[in-house]
Amino acid sequence: MSLLVVGSVALDSVQTPFGKRDEMLGGSAVYCAIAASHFTRVRLVGVVGEDFPRDAVELLRTRRIDLSGLEIKRGKTFRWGGVYSEDMNERTTLNTALNVFQDFRPRIPDESRRTAYAFLGNISPSLQLNVLDQMERTRFVAMDTMNFWIDRAREELLSVLRKVDAVLINESEAKQLSGNSTLVKATRIIQELGCHTVLVKLGEHGCYHVCRDECFVAPAYPLEVVRDPTGAGDSFAGGFMGYLSQVGRSDARTLREAVVYGSVMASFAVEDFGVEGLVELTDTDIARRYEEFRQLVSF
Ligand code: AMP
Repeated sequence: MSLLVVGSVALDSVQTPFGKRDEMLGGSAVYCAIAASHFTRVRLVGVVGEDFPRDAVELLRTRRIDLSGLEIKRGKTFRWGGVYSEDMNERTTLNTALNVFQDFRPRIPDESRRTAYAFLGNISPSLQLNVLDQMERTRFVAMDTMNFWIDRAREELLSVLRKVDAVLINESEAKQLSGNSTLVKATRIIQELGCHTVLVKLGEHGCYHVCRDECFVAPAYPLEVVRDPTGAGDSFAGGFMGYLSQVGRSDARTLREAVVYGSVMASFAVEDFGVEGLVELTDTDIARRYEEFRQLVSF
């Protein structure tokens, strides 16, 4: 099986208490694609400008990510810059230059339209709908979103929600979308809006997952050093969707395993700057940390 990933491809400039990096490879689709590439074949759909560095393309190629859906347009690549607070719990966006991403119209290559698994990264709900219209015979589709779209494009967002199998969302967004400030009630309301599987990302506290009447909670891996939290949620999505695509199932038991693989990949992502923590991983590293999770929650 393979996984289609649609979203931003960026050059990120990030400052944390551990240092500063300029114009690193980033973007929601990139984090998700690299994390998922440890599990399955990934097809990335996004847009970059003519200035997109050749070594970034090479890096994606070394992970055997299919780039036939990566459009190169005249202009500059999307850039994002952010700075983290001393305790890393707060992030301030310093600059966002959408550049070619502003007019992104995802075009799914013909040979990718029947990809069984898909992740719709954080793009406008109308573009997410457009991607769904281009796909045929999907088996499991997950979406991400953010407060901006919940505010500005609620109706379209609800249409996407009714068409996908799972939504990945952070705690404040879940509360905003549902209009309820109790986590358990908020996820129930989101299910009633039309999506049977809801994953609420709780940052350093892990993930709260409901699938129909089942509920599962996974902790975040207890890391002593977090160097750069950027992309944790997208790496989670990559581990989660990558695993589902690898095993070709999405029953309740498999979803729980996928949540743990998501947490594993998010933990590797934040240990280093940008995608550095994800690229060089081996299957053994991933399997070892998965087992550590099992120990962590066994009682
Ligand atoms: P996260 O840490 O999960 O919020 O994801 C961070 C990634 O999102 C960075 O690599 C950014 O390049 C990307 N990003 C930041 N702002 C936007 C935006 N408005 N649309 C799409 N992607 C974005």
